[in-house]
This record gives sequence, structure tokens and C-alpha cells, in this order.
Amino acid sequence: MHDKIKADRRRQIPAVNKVLEALDHVDLPRPVIVAVVRRELAALRESDQLVTFEDVFDHVMRALDRHLHSRLQPVVNGTGVILHTNFGRAPLSGAARESLAQIATSYSNLEFDLVSGQRGTRANYLETNLSILCEAEAATVVNNCAAALVLIATHFVANKSEVVISRGELVQIGGGFRIGEILEASGARLREVGATNKTTLADYSRALGKDAAMILRVHRSNFFMEGFVDSPSLRDLAAMSRKKRVPFVVDLGSGLVEPLELLGDEITPAAALRDGADLVCFSGDKLFGGPQAGIIIGRKKLVRALKQHPLFRALRCDKLTLVALQATVDLHLRESTSEIPALALIKIDKDELRGRAANIITRVRGLPAQINVGRGVVKSGGGTSPRAVIPSVTIDIAPEDFSPNEFASRLRAQTPPVVGYIAQGAFKLDLRTIFPEQDDIVVDAIRAACTA
Ligand SMILES: *Cc1c(COP(=O)(O)O)cnc(C)c1O
Repeated sequence: MHDKIKADRRRQIPAVNKVLEALDHVDLPRPVIVAVVRRELAALRESDQLVTFEDVFDHVMRALDRHLHSRLQPVVNGTGVILHTNFGRAPLSGAARESLAQIATSYSNLEFDLVSGQRGTRANYLETNLSILCEAEAATVVNNCAAALVLIATHFVANKSEVVISRGELVQIGGGFRIGEILEASGARLREVGATNKTTLADYSRALGKDAAMILRVHRSNFFMEGFVDSPSLRDLAAMSRKKRVPFVVDLGSGLVEPLELLGDEITPAAALRDGADLVCFSGDKLFGGPQAGIIIGRKKLVRALKQHPLFRALRCDKLTLVALQATVDLHLRESTSEIPALALIKIDKDELRGRAANIITRVRGLPAQINVGRGVVKSGGGTSPRAVIPSVTIDIAPEDFSPNEFASRLRAQTPPVVGYIAQGAFKLDLRTIFPEQDDIVVDAIRAACTA
């Protein structure tokens, strides 16, 4: 394009101040608004589009809106995935919420012994109760399960370098997080044994040489294998690890404390220890139902060594995590698991969901859309029990005048945003992951999205 024309068009992009003056109230800090407007105008100047002031203004408003929407905020989860990593996994219990509020806004005895009046140990109560809950000699907590693996691997590979792991357990957990890569980043050399589908005790035995730092068993978490598959039992592997004097670590991932029939035969942390694991780690915010954390349980000597490792300080949890976890652990110990949402949601009766669905549908009658009660299947998600599908109840919505995709996007634009899913061309909201007290929000959001 001719340089002169280009320059003319650039001049048509309004000044930052002019756009700022024209903006209505936007619920963002002023410096952020100014920065976004600057950035967008600069980008428009770079492009060669001819634009009117209205175009520029709309463009900037959309950018501000996108930024505002990215603010961490509550979302109504109609996806039916109970532990959705994108939605912050486990919602916390009322007890956790209350203790969080108290500790967050006040001073606390985080590292202070109230009996002696001296400096105390952090998380003493939590660690004691966790070890009672998991029938472990000792327990501790770090930032998440990945951090637990890093700490454990780093500790064990200090002298010997090899982490012995089955080829069938080199799992990718979520977006870009691979067990093998995190072990290597911790300085471990992977000693892969067996085949993808079959690993025998003899495979492990052959691999346990003088460089073996630990045997790691990883829960497959988000997939399962069927057919010509085999791997040794925890008990057999533990017996061999003792014979060869190599520590045996189990990464359980989800950490279901109480077996749940709906989820099939998940092994519990206590059972893994009983079977002979030296250390077991799992996440705090999967089926344990607490905040993001990596829980480590097992032999006293090993847990103590991990806590003395220099990395422990870098991976430790803050007081908010500790107190939310403390409340969650106590709910487990009091057998009040009905108060832990992640577990309670799994158990809600379908009839209860049907009743709520019928009620919601009555309240949105007369809108320009086909709205019906549908069937759904819920997944526990977050890398837990991939095989378990729990029957559920959905609200199926087919707007008359626009596509399911457009409807989904309008619901996401509500405050709070409502997120569903599209299956077989129909938009669905699963009621199992929507709290009953959110039904009013759902009704309002459906109305607004249908008529906008
Ligand atoms: C989920 C999972 C992890 C990672 O847990 P985070 O708490 O998200 O770090 C590690 N290992 C297994 C087997 C898992 O399922």
C-alpha cells in the first residue's frame, strides 16, 4: 500500500484519551483500562484496517470485556464433571470455608506453640490427623501432588539416580504434565520396565540394580487398559522392594479415603500403605475433596527426611491451604463426608435431580426454545476413576432462533457465567454439578440467553 495512504489511515485511529472519555463505567482498575486501550489502539494502528470511531470503540470494549471475564470468579458448572481441573477441582466444604475466613483475616498460631509460648511447628495438628486418617506413621503436605513427586524424587535420587517405573504408568495427567518429564526434571534417570500393557515382577527385578533410587507405581488416573494387560500387585512389588532394599513409592493421584461403590475398586491411601508402600502421595483437591495440596504419607523416617530437604521450604503450603485441608481432614475423621461436596455430589439421588429439573423447566416455560429434561452421565474427572460413569439428569435446551454454540456462549457471558456442554447437537446442563442454591441463577441465565 502507498505510504501516504497508510499514514492517513493511521491518523484516523483516535487518541487514547478520546476513547477513554467515551467509555462508560468498566469494573476494572483505571491503570488497567488505560493499558488495555493503549494496547488495542496500538494494534489497530499497526493493522491497515479502515475504521470508524464506533468500530474502534466496539473493538476496545470487547477487549476490556474479555479481560474482565478472565478475572478469577465463580462459575456455575453444568458440565457434569465433578472434579474439573479447569473449574478449580473440588469445591470446598462449609467447614473449610469458615475456617478459611477466620484464618485469612486474622493472626493465627501458624508456627507458634500456645502451650509453651515458644515458636511451634507448622501444620502439626494437620499432619497428626492426616496420619490417623490414613493409618500412616507420618504425614506431611506440599503445594500439590506434582510437588510431592518432585520432592520425593529429588530426595531419593540424591545418591542413586534411577527411578524404576513401568512403561504402562508413564502417564500424562493434564495439559502438558507428564510423570516421566517431572521425574527427569527432578534429576532422575528413568529406568522404564516392561511393556505398555504388561509389566511383570521379573521385569522390575531385572531393573533393580545398584543405581536404583526408588520404585514408583503411578495410578493410571485418567485412562484404563483392558485385554492383554498385567502388572504385579502392590503387595508383590512391595515385597520385592524390601528384598532389594529400594524404597517403594506409590503416586495414587486422587486419594479416595473411603471406598465408593460408584467409583469401582479404587485403592485407598491406607490400603496402599498396608500393602507395603513406603510412601504414598495424592492430591488434596481430587476425591479427597479439599484445597490444592500434595499429601504425602508413609514411614516416619522418610517423611522426616522429606521435611528436612531444602526444597520442602519452596514447596510448602500457605496457611490458607493448611487450614482448609485441616477442616477437610477432620470432616473425613468425623465421617461427615456428606459435607464434602466432591463426595456428596457423586451420591445425590437421581430422583432429587429430576425434581429440580422439572422445577427449572416449569420456571422457564414460554421462551423461544425447546427445553426438556434429559439424561447425562457424570464423570468424577480430574484424573480419577476414568471408568466410572454415574447416571445423571440434564436440562436440554435447543433455542429456536440460533445455534447451541451461540447459546453456550451467551450463557458463559452471564454473571455468574454458566457452563454446559454440547452432545449430539444439543446443549445440556448437568444438574449434578450445579448446587441446588444455584437453580435460581440457572433459571435467570437461561431466560437471559434465550431472549438476549
Ligand atoms: C492428578 C495427579 C497428579 C497431579 O496432581 P496435582 O495435585 O494436580 O499436582 C499426579 N499424579 C497422579 C497419578 C494424578 O492423578
